[in-house]
Amino acid sequence: MSIPNLQTFGFSEDYQAVYDLAYRYSRDELYSLCGKMDDEEWFPEDAFRKLGEQGLLGVTVPEEYGGSGLDVLAQCFICEAVAYWNHTLSASLLASDNLCVHNLVKNASALQKAEYLPRFCDGTAIGALGMTEPGAGSDALGSMATTAYRDGDDYILNGRKLFITNGPIADVLLVYAKTDLEKKQHGISSFIVEKNFEGFSVAQKLDKMGWRGSPTGELVFDNCRVPAGNLVGAENKGNVVMMSGLDVERVIGAFFCIGMAQRALDLAVEYAVQRKQFDQPIGNFQLVQGMLADMYTDLESLRALTYQLGREIKDISVDEAGRGGVHKRSAAALLCAGRTCMKILDSAVQIHGGMGCMRESEVNRLYRSGKIMEIGAGTNQVRQIIIAGELLKESAA
Ligand SMILES: Cc1cc2nc3c(=O)[nH]c(=O)nc-3n(C[C@H](O)[C@H](O)[C@H](O)COP(=O)(O)OP(=O)(O)OC[C@H]3O[C@@H](n4cnc5c(N)ncnc54)[C@H](O)[C@@H]3O)c2cc1C
Repeated sequence: MSIPNLQTFGFSEDYQAVYDLAYRYSRDELYSLCGKMDDEEWFPEDAFRKLGEQGLLGVTVPEEYGGSGLDVLAQCFICEAVAYWNHTLSASLLASDNLCVHNLVKNASALQKAEYLPRFCDGTAIGALGMTEPGAGSDALGSMATTAYRDGDDYILNGRKLFITNGPIADVLLVYAKTDLEKKQHGISSFIVEKNFEGFSVAQKLDKMGWRGSPTGELVFDNCRVPAGNLVGAENKGNVVMMSGLDVERVIGAFFCIGMAQRALDLAVEYAVQRKQFDQPIGNFQLVQGMLADMYTDLESLRALTYQLGREIKDISVDEAGRGGVHKRSAAALLCAGRTCMKILDSAVQIHGGMGCMRESEVNRLYRSGKIMEIGAGTNQVRQIIIAGELLKESAA
């Protein structure tokens, strides 16, 4: 019951095949890793290589660079299906394959693509995206303090990045830095940084309430020397890379929420059938039925909005994203997704009663991770600011 029939939503059999592959592989190989990943903050080192063998990495990478040449909607469905069985691994997959790799597919030069993309497709390299800093969260562009200046054939990067998914394990990172301080958010550039570049280090791996098997870190750039050939796009055009990437990230994040929320609903139904009180399954009680019905209805409303947004962003160009209708609608999709996911997770814990409060229960693990979806990729408030800003701009036009 948890595999959606994508054709009902008007998607082709090809998307269904991608979804089914990701779903079955995650159920058979990734689900059993969840407990250890959460308990021990353990990241399975061979996970990416195995995902690569299954063809689940680099799906948006053109075939000439070792990928599948599919669109970002296929990646969204993979993210949802993996999140259903192992949301923590799906978080790392999203950060590498979308935030880093897909942004390179869209913005990197042919030389950069040939150099880096094949390694991501076979899982020998893991990617990350470094935007947030200790002093630059919601105001990521304006307050960015990491700088880069040209020194002969290199750029020299100085600064820190915080809360970076995959930061401690990434081989290659897409990093934003200011190349022109006076131009503020219009003076940002993006760079490909390899983990063994001189001056790059991981300051710490952070201890989180959820997504515990997906390593999150603080990164340091201390006179980090990056070849000028690793500048992605033009100098001072990093905000275009960033803003267009964020719209897609928000939509894929909404697919991720559907995977988690569907899993929570299925666990709640299962528990309502098994658990007996007053000599009968708790699922017989209409107050419990009401919660299940609301969870289902909220999830299906979210699915309809998110799948529509998936259609809207699947072929979007860098120039079209980051502003206007799609900017507003992708922020709305993630605002709705984060809230709906949290509401469904809360009801799932409620239906599990005391068991839902136990750290080792699956529903508790999902609940602890859900909150991140109201914060990452721009908090709920930032999403509201984007939506309202676009509405007001439209009315003034
Ligand atoms: C698990 C995890 C993984 C992450 N992964 C990555 C990653 O891979 N790469 C990356 O670059 N970043 C990553 N982030 C960072 C994430 O994007 C930021 O945490 C987020 O954008 C919020 O920034 P902040 O934490 O500094 O909060 P702040 O910006 O300090 O916000 C604190 C509070 O103030 C509110 N606030 C701020 N400004 C306004 C305003 N103008 N109006 C109203 N309210 C406001 C916020 O909504 C929030 O409630 C990750 C974060 C987490 C938790």
